[in-house]
Amino acid sequence: MRRVLFFCLLLFAFFLLPSSFLVAQSRPLVSPSATPIYQRLLPQVARIKIFDHHAHPGWADDTEVDPAPVPPSVLPLRLREENPDWVAAARALFAFPFSDLKGTHGRWLADKKAALRKSRPGPQYFDALLDQLGVETSVANRITMADYLDPRRFKWVFYIDPVLFPFDTSGLAARNPDQAAFMPNQTKLLRRLEQQVGAGGHPPGLAAYLSFVTRVLEDHQRRGAIAAKFEIAYFRSFVFDDPPPETAAAVYDKYRSGGVPAAAEYKTFQDFVFRHVVAECGRLHLPVHIHSSAGAGDYFSLAGVNVLNLEPVLRDLRYSSTTFVLIHGGYPFEQPAILMALMKNVWLDSSATGSFLLYPQEFKDVLRRWFAIAPEKVTYGSDAFPIDERIGAEELYWFGVHNARTATAAALAEMIAAREITESQAMAIARGYLHDNAAGLYR
Ligand SMILES: [Zn+2]
Repeated sequence: MRRVLFFCLLLFAFFLLPSSFLVAQSRPLVSPSATPIYQRLLPQVARIKIFDHHAHPGWADDTEVDPAPVPPSVLPLRLREENPDWVAAARALFAFPFSDLKGTHGRWLADKKAALRKSRPGPQYFDALLDQLGVETSVANRITMADYLDPRRFKWVFYIDPVLFPFDTSGLAARNPDQAAFMPNQTKLLRRLEQQVGAGGHPPGLAAYLSFVTRVLEDHQRRGAIAAKFEIAYFRSFVFDDPPPETAAAVYDKYRSGGVPAAAEYKTFQDFVFRHVVAECGRLHLPVHIHSSAGAGDYFSLAGVNVLNLEPVLRDLRYSSTTFVLIHGGYPFEQPAILMALMKNVWLDSSATGSFLLYPQEFKDVLRRWFAIAPEKVTYGSDAFPIDERIGAEELYWFGVHNARTATAAALAEMIAAREITESQAMAIARGYLHDNAAGLYR
């Protein structure tokens, strides 16, 4: 009788469990000797308020989120719609009652979000999302800030790449379909920047152009931006030469008013202006964020984005007061990246790599290798971005938080079990990674 009663209670408890417990969620496989430690650490890690160092919050119809929309290409497995984590995320955040996103199920989610958007006007929708996920502050990497993002919770990081494209870009656009999609937008955004800082067209002389670039940085900083972001890896390689000003000035004078520069001429000019931005950001105490991992699109250059190409810039004495954040942690070159982060002015961000490129199992191993070398230089990010009216930034914020908490607790548990660190050191590493290391850069 007691056994029957126990069985009934068990069944009852099963049906009373929150539905999120019944959806498969990806997880790290913790080595057996570390499992009890993992179970002890995970709830403590989950209580740490998060600083998300890289995200693109916004609605799918907001064109200010991303200046370089990549033409459709094959997605990594974790971003594909069949990934069960989409359902787990939608269920955790919106009580999504279905087990896939097909047809009317996806419609349900879009309608739910539209209704919530109405009932939580202005900044309330995204504030509530951060609250739900335990995120204190999130970077908003966007062209401009949105009035529906609370500036107390969302810190603006703007794109500085357009200043690298003052000349005719048709030669660059002809290289491949991705560049053909990117280039017109860079030109358009440069025109906007010129208007914003009151510069009409390209001023005569390189010195005047550089002073325009500086004004762009200062203007964004004055309007609340906390860092400047390069997504330059989408446009060209990280091999930056160090041309003398006369060479850059000659290219500028030749093409300022028209004409199509040869690829080598454009590169020389960009190498020079990139270095000017990096130096000026040091003077202005404006950290420089650099997309430094594999990227989307069929023509993204993996060889070009190898962080070892950046080494001559990062180790250049002239930029020793510039703070560099290697966004996405260099993946798949994440090991040289953490070794470069031993430099006093270089940090890594784990977004994308840790949220939708890798599952928690693989990310746990990446984090463990990073924590073993320079834990105080690793920062958390989600790279959350809008996709369509059904799925997007909300679910990807969940991906990031879910991955980071489980992978952090697992990596640290294994390090404790291997007697590499103590439990109190482990919690200090977790607090640093999830919040303090990034927050400390912007105080
Ligand atoms: Zn991003």
